[in-house]
Amino acid sequence: METKIIHFMVHGRLERAEFGSECPAADVKDLFQAAAEAEPHHILKMYDTNGSLVNITPQLEANGEDSYYRLEAVASDLKRVGTPPELDDMEHRLHRLERKVIEDVGSVPEVLREMKTHVESFKEKLESLEHLSWMGLFKTDRDQRLADPKPPTQQPSVPDGREQVHRRFLHMSSLQVTEEVKEHLKTPLFDNWQWEEAEMLVLLQVMFADLDFLALLHIELDVLQNFLFEVYCHYNNVPFHNFRHCFCVTQMMYGLIWLTDLRSHFPPLDLLVMLTSALCHDLDHPGYSNVFQINAQTHLARRYNNVSPLENHHCTMAFGILSEPERNILKNLSGEQYRHIRAGMIRCILATDMARHNDILLRFRVTQPIFDFTNEEHREVLMKIMLKVSDISNEARPMAVAEPWLDCLLQEFFNQSDTEKLQGLPVTPFMDRDQVSKPSSQTNFIQFVLLPLFTELTKLFPCLEQHILVPVQRALDFYSDMERVTKQEKEQEELELL
Ligand code: 5GP
Ligand code: MN
Repeated sequence: METKIIHFMVHGRLERAEFGSECPAADVKDLFQAAAEAEPHHILKMYDTNGSLVNITPQLEANGEDSYYRLEAVASDLKRVGTPPELDDMEHRLHRLERKVIEDVGSVPEVLREMKTHVESFKEKLESLEHLSWMGLFKTDRDQRLADPKPPTQQPSVPDGREQVHRRFLHMSSLQVTEEVKEHLKTPLFDNWQWEEAEMLVLLQVMFADLDFLALLHIELDVLQNFLFEVYCHYNNVPFHNFRHCFCVTQMMYGLIWLTDLRSHFPPLDLLVMLTSALCHDLDHPGYSNVFQINAQTHLARRYNNVSPLENHHCTMAFGILSEPERNILKNLSGEQYRHIRAGMIRCILATDMARHNDILLRFRVTQPIFDFTNEEHREVLMKIMLKVSDISNEARPMAVAEPWLDCLLQEFFNQSDTEKLQGLPVTPFMDRDQVSKPSSQTNFIQFVLLPLFTELTKLFPCLEQHILVPVQRALDFYSDMERVTKQEKEQEELELL
């Protein structure tokens, strides 16, 4: 096959490409796409020496080094980007199948209708989650957002469902929460699954009020309500890192504050840092981990140079919400108090990156024999540990509450590893559905992460033993038994096959 040589200038470099006229068109496009380091949503434009556009096809005319083409990658208006071919193809096949079934059977069976709904909702998800924008479907002008990220105020108006939650929240917030519920709220026994979103917002308001933050830190009730509602609006509808997880982490933090009588060791300002950090610690989580962000080179990884991209983003979102006076619960504090809270929240939220787990635990461990509540450094590491414990405390809850959370977590993990496989990215081993099971995931996590962390906090607060250490030990026994039984069953099956 005869090959030709194309000379072209891209990003200020003179490059050469070689291909034959028989080369498939897609390969030629790929070649220039790679040369321009373009992403899927970019459009490639090739100009000749006269400045006229030429088609990028296998028939592109060969040229000399001094009559090179000019290649440019231009960001397309994403509103006009079509669906990816796989999805298009799936919709097309479904449509054909539907027509055929109608011809043969006369009506569309339920299973087909369900499939169509699934495809549609998947497409909607791709179009609505900013963090899936690397798939090229997100409906906004991405480059403008990159240059000038929109603060949360300018985001689209509140969708209907949220407006209803808002109304119900405001309506219910004037009603009294019973003493029994309030007491329950202070322990890890609290069952989050019984409460709907508007009710969780009311309970969060109760937590702020019961710690006396409104009076002590001059927080106006309507500002607190606006703040809580905005926080709710900025959690995504993902399986695990959603608003309910935010509620659980905040509730555990609230419980720990009471159980350890932290009010006698920390001023209200620091307690506000802890509760607010818990509330904001996963804001706008896309359901894909830091490792994914970095491997897929998402805009979050680029924006934060691979350094805790998610945690940096959660924190930026928090201060974006607080940037509007009508929901700034810190607006009546002095400049110095504001700076103290901001620094504390940044420290705590960034500390939730599990990549820093061992480092933070080690630093807490060395303070143990000499822990001093008046030592600034000791207090700071304790605040981080309190948030970290709250963040990963599901297994300290009763089994009936904890187990559904594990299903949610694995669903999110499996979503990620499936995407990694589809995209040809490295597969995160503990998220791989082919390698992980409920018991294996928990026995490892409890032994190597939870128990060492919870044991360290319990050394400082022995009263926590019954509340967090005992239930986690029980969960480990439960999942170890399950793991053993599963293994025995598997061995038995293998024996029978022989
Ligand atoms: P987060 O992402 O919620 O801020 O940080 C906590 C991380 O710890 C989660 O993303 C997840 O990887 C891990 N994690 C939390 N709870 C559990 C659990 O119960 N089991 C396992 N296997 N991992 C957990
Ligand atoms: Mn979390």
